[in-house]
Amino acid sequence: MAAADMGRSRIVIAGGGLAGLSLSLALKRALADGVDVIMCDPALSRDPHGDRRSYAIAAAARRMFQALGVWDAVSEKAQPILDMVITDSSLQDPIRPTYLTFEGAVDGEAFAHMVTAGDLTALLLEACREAGVTLKPEGVKGFTSHAAHTDVELTGGETLSATLLVAADGARSRLREQAGIGWIYWPYNQSGIVATISHERDHEGRAVEHFLPAGPFAILPLKDETRPDGSVQHRSSIVWSERSENVPVLLESHPEDLLAELEKRFGLQLGRIAFETKPQAFPLAFGVARSFVGERLVLLGDAAHLIHPIAGQGLNLGLHDVAALAEIITDAMRLGQDPGGADVLMQYERARRADITAMGIVTDGLNRLFSNDLLPVRLIRDLGLGLVDRMPGLKRFFIREAAGLRREDVPRLLKGEAL
Ligand SMILES: Cc1cc2nc3c(=O)[nH]c(=O)nc-3n(C[C@H](O)[C@H](O)[C@H](O)COP(=O)(O)OP(=O)(O)OC[C@H]3O[C@@H](n4cnc5c(N)ncnc54)[C@H](O)[C@@H]3O)c2cc1C
Repeated sequence: MAAADMGRSRIVIAGGGLAGLSLSLALKRALADGVDVIMCDPALSRDPHGDRRSYAIAAAARRMFQALGVWDAVSEKAQPILDMVITDSSLQDPIRPTYLTFEGAVDGEAFAHMVTAGDLTALLLEACREAGVTLKPEGVKGFTSHAAHTDVELTGGETLSATLLVAADGARSRLREQAGIGWIYWPYNQSGIVATISHERDHEGRAVEHFLPAGPFAILPLKDETRPDGSVQHRSSIVWSERSENVPVLLESHPEDLLAELEKRFGLQLGRIAFETKPQAFPLAFGVARSFVGERLVLLGDAAHLIHPIAGQGLNLGLHDVAALAEIITDAMRLGQDPGGADVLMQYERARRADITAMGIVTDGLNRLFSNDLLPVRLIRDLGLGLVDRMPGLKRFFIREAAGLRREDVPRLLKGEAL
């Protein structure tokens, strides 16, 4: 069926991770009955709260969630980052000198909030349902593009005719591969071990990043949890980068030995610590698609780019894609244009290429600079950190960058404006 015959546009989104869900909601909020949004992901049949990973959501992305009407509910579960401390040392060093500190506020709001993926996913899913997004707990098996529409084949056997297919199916995107879009990729030989840690003392909203030779070790504050007996549990999330060859041995070691290894990195400043969730490891790599668009196809989030978590920006980059794509599609449809047309999709390619390339280069460079123990390199980087610490203007620049608030020409949703 041709797009024009369908009466109104249908956009199929393959992948209900945080990027896909946010785009579904943004499109439905902006275009309401003017568009059919169909979200397909086999994971939709699972309980979203099962995902206990946590993310730092930058201020710009927070503004988008505010504009989409979900932030009030998210904020009840989110912990603002109030300040940040950066150290650089070897694992055996008896003390970890602080080289750089940042205040967490920018323009009167926290530069980032920590929230668990499960909580955010559940709230977005609920909002998508209320807004009228069709949720299908099935995968997309393949697609065939035609001049005016694309046929999207689902794993259950159904074929959907769509104006545009959005591949939000993660870094190992099957749709990107099927479209023949190249993927520039290199592994880091590092894995990120993530877990939630409970601790005796209050973190006071402080995030800590220890640069260690095997990679960065981040302690990120989570909202206190009130237990059924009324007691309050202080919690933080860790992202522990480790050489990949050491990870299986670490994760299979006796729980007390693993906790002892954790204590060496976490330190004692928050009192006694324990694992709240089972540690999970994610191999770290760099990847960027040679094109973010194909014929009636667009790549979103990790399907388009994969970066090192050293700056906690991977999902934020994907949410920037969401804001840009939602705006381009909405503006095009309001002008009566075909949202899957090549000229509309090229606007997205142009809008995102420079930002994604820059973030990829910066995170790759930071990881190379900090994940080693060469004395001359360490001396130079510590000198650099110390200098930045004494330059308030430069510190403001970095924190605005991390908050996603440095540039004026960002999509409207990232400024908190409705589409
Ligand atoms: C250790 C670590 C820490 C991180 N910390 C942060 C942080 O603090 N802040 C931050 O911004 N980012 C962080 N990131 C990055 C972040 O995890 C990712 O960028 C983000 O989860 C990507 O979201 P996504 O929706 O694009 O893809 P995904 O979350 O990978 O979702 C893809 C979805 O597609 C579905 N799918 C797959 N194939 C198909 C198919 N054929 N059909 C339909 N559906 C399909 C999957 O089931 C999945 O639900 C971190 C990453 C790591 C590894």
